[in-house]
Amino acid sequence: MTRQNSKMSNKFKVRAYCSSRQCDYVHPDDVVQAINGETSYALAQMYNELPSKPGCPKCGEAMAFYSYSVIEQPWLP
Ligand SMILES: [Zn+2]
Repeated sequence: MTRQNSKMSNKFKVRAYCSSRQCDYVHPDDVVQAINGETSYALAQMYNELPSKPGCPKCGEAMAFYSYSVIEQPWLP
């Protein structure tokens, strides 16, 4: 999925974070970049339903996934 969309610069991504409330670990890298919001949401749901999730490197709790979008504002008029 390296296709560039020149019209829309929004990026839809899935991120992993620790599911423990006592821990604020968020994985520094994006899990995946999706083509649109629906896809990133569906992917996050799919990862959250996996029977074996990766563990948090800080506390060992299961990681959780969420989708988010980055709107890149062009700084040129
Ligand atoms: Zn943790």
